[in-house]
Amino acid sequence: MYPDYHMHTTLSDGCETHSQMLAAAQGRGVSEIGFSDHISVKPVGWSMPLSSIPLMVEAVESLKGESGAVTVKLGAEVDYVVGKEAQIAELLKQIPLDYCIGSVHFINDWNFDTDPSAFKGIDVDAFYREYFSMVQRSAKSGLYDIIGHCDLAKKFGYYPSFALDRLFEETARVFSDYGVVFELNTSGRNKPCAEFYPSVGFIQMLHHYKVPVTLGSDAHKGSSIGQFFPEAVALLKRVGYSELALFSNRSRFWLNL
Ligand SMILES: [Zn+2]
Ligand SMILES: [Zn+2]
Repeated sequence: MYPDYHMHTTLSDGCETHSQMLAAAQGRGVSEIGFSDHISVKPVGWSMPLSSIPLMVEAVESLKGESGAVTVKLGAEVDYVVGKEAQIAELLKQIPLDYCIGSVHFINDWNFDTDPSAFKGIDVDAFYREYFSMVQRSAKSGLYDIIGHCDLAKKFGYYPSFALDRLFEETARVFSDYGVVFELNTSGRNKPCAEFYPSVGFIQMLHHYKVPVTLGSDAHKGSSIGQFFPEAVALLKRVGYSELALFSNRSRFWLNL
């Protein structure tokens, strides 16, 4: 039984309500679920408006008391936007979060993970350098407990001409230095890249630098909760992980694998 710390509801771009997601989670092999709807200080269609934050808190808090066998946590997937760190910090202070996932979905004003056709003709090498630099900055910002899908650049199956080892190592070192956890996000398996975020090679590097890990399905519907978790856990054990990070009230504790 494992935690699933990454999922969306109708408040942002998910298809089901909080109650429907919780009902679906029963019997899917998860011990706890964390709701992590999108929050973005840059207005964008797939994120909830900032004015919905009180609704989010109310919806999750009301389920915490009646969640049965599955523990419920209040998380959020909060976009990292360069130059907006103070605004994000101010926003996060006002939400009684159990944990906060920091995700990079934008390179400057380009939301790179929505339209694969936008990759045609771009400098993919430069894109990867920029992407990992943003991910590192998100970890250094101190805003986040967990860094989300930390090689999302590969989503549509575009890869740089150079080997990624050096960027993986640099990023793993930053994660370690700044005390963030990464998530093994299983949703990549259903995308053109057809593998988990991050890749096995990156996970090995993160383990080498002793960066803790947690698990997320990035479910946008109940039937995706806990997707591929047995395989993900087997992979983590193979790499050498023996525990998962859990969060409550933004403090970290551990679950043995
Ligand atoms: Zn995301
Ligand atoms: Zn997500």
